[in-house]
Amino acid sequence: MNQQCSKTIYEGRGFSYPCRKKAIVETNGKSYCTIHDPEYIKAKRVKWDAEFDKERAEKKARWELEEARGKATEGLTLHELQQITPDKIRTLIPKEKK
Ligand SMILES: [Zn+2]
Repeated sequence: MNQQCSKTIYEGRGFSYPCRKKAIVETNGKSYCTIHDPEYIKAKRVKWDAEFDKERAEKKARWELEEARGKATEGLTLHELQQITPDKIRTLIPKEKK
């Protein structure tokens, strides 16, 4: 294959130009370079989505833990709070996720 990538690059302000890279794959009759290969882009997006979901789940779990911690210690005095060790807090929270 000795073609140019058929991808059009869009810049801001309405400018666009064809990708100047050499095509290495052909999909649906169109040639693409490595970074514009639709399969590559799709795989990359799936990877990003997975990472994003993981990050979001971690944030949610952390937030839920904070909230549970807040509820568990609600109404306690500062002195009482100071008596609570992290281990004890864990016992106060009924559904902490690991
Ligand atoms: Zn390209």
